[in-house]
Amino acid sequence: MEQQISRQNFNDWMVPVYAPADFVLVRGEGSRLWDQQGKEYVDFAGGIAVNALGHSHPEVKKALLEQAEKIWHLGNGYTNEPVLRLAKKLIDATFAEKIFFCNSGAEANEAALKLARLYGHQQQPGVKNEIIAFKNAFHGRTLFTVTAGGQPKYSADFAPLPPAITHLPFNDLAAVASHISSRTCAVIVEPIQGEGGVLPADAEFLQGLRELCTKHDALLIFDEVQTGVGRTGELYAYQHYGVVPDILTSAKALGGGFPIGAMLTVDRYAELFQPGTHGTTYGGNPLATAVAGKVFDLINTPEVLSGVKKRYQTFIDGLQRINDQYQVFAEVRGQGLLIGAVMNSAYAGQAKQLNQLAAEEGLIALIAGPDVLRFAPSLIIPSDDIEEGLNRLERAVARLCRR
Ligand SMILES: *Cc1c(COP(=O)(O)O)cnc(C)c1O
Repeated sequence: MEQQISRQNFNDWMVPVYAPADFVLVRGEGSRLWDQQGKEYVDFAGGIAVNALGHSHPEVKKALLEQAEKIWHLGNGYTNEPVLRLAKKLIDATFAEKIFFCNSGAEANEAALKLARLYGHQQQPGVKNEIIAFKNAFHGRTLFTVTAGGQPKYSADFAPLPPAITHLPFNDLAAVASHISSRTCAVIVEPIQGEGGVLPADAEFLQGLRELCTKHDALLIFDEVQTGVGRTGELYAYQHYGVVPDILTSAKALGGGFPIGAMLTVDRYAELFQPGTHGTTYGGNPLATAVAGKVFDLINTPEVLSGVKKRYQTFIDGLQRINDQYQVFAEVRGQGLLIGAVMNSAYAGQAKQLNQLAAEEGLIALIAGPDVLRFAPSLIIPSDDIEEGLNRLERAVARLCRR
């Protein structure tokens, strides 16, 4: 007999780095989820921008099962077919000429930052090592990436931190222009700050960063872990802006729920990483890359990408309708299916309460900081599910207002 499991067991057995909801989800299909008691939820969270094709997508499931029959893992002494196929798909669809695979967003950024440091080291050893990052940014939880992130509350307690990382205000090109120098080896930026509150970069800001990086021979790194793989209605967000980075990192939606990360770059920088310089046991594992290859094929179509833009409008209209009646949001922002509804001053700090009420009403959503309710649903969420989810959100908002 298997152990009976309850939410209380989390407190009993898990290192308490999370505070999960007080119910346990056991099954998902498309954009609906069910908990242990059989209660059904609409999923506007998508596993934090991961389940880009919803839950249990039949074709993705088939790719997983087919690969499971063949080979799961080899180690990097041997290459495999799924990884090479996936690399070629990414190269054909983006600026990239070479791909490095890993298992998460943090690892993809870790690779990017190490590559930038290596580049700087080769140009001017001991001098060209500064990394410019932005306040409020999120790049992952390894020591290097959490230090690059712009929320000291996540990094300060782990000091001493890797040095030569400077945080400047996001969307402030003048601040970068006055700080960047020949000592800078990289600038890392999210095209939309996701965890930081769904804050889009201005086009002029990204264009300006591109010019400054080129001028000072620094690598421009776009962290597209959250914005990548169709999330914004383009395959990658850089394609909206017409600004091409030197390195792009991808994870989350790339595996549709199977852990995988990737660093995309061009030959000139890729060749600095040679056998032995960097690596990871699981990176490019055939099971992960077979799933990601199928996810990629399903998302990278004009229908799915334009569908994201249409769904964006449905969300915006629905949120507007709710707000016309209840005036809880100061602003709704974002792009494609990465949307943030900012609580207005009367409800400052109450995004989490609203999210909890939403779950009681049968809607799973996300927050991004204390003031932003965030949505990152499946890119193919059916319109009925959007309508139903918005109705449930409206009930939660009504309850918040009555408090
Ligand atoms: C989630 C996220 C990461 C970290 O990814 P993990 O897979 O959790 O390591 C990095 N950057 C951005 C922009 C993210 O949203």
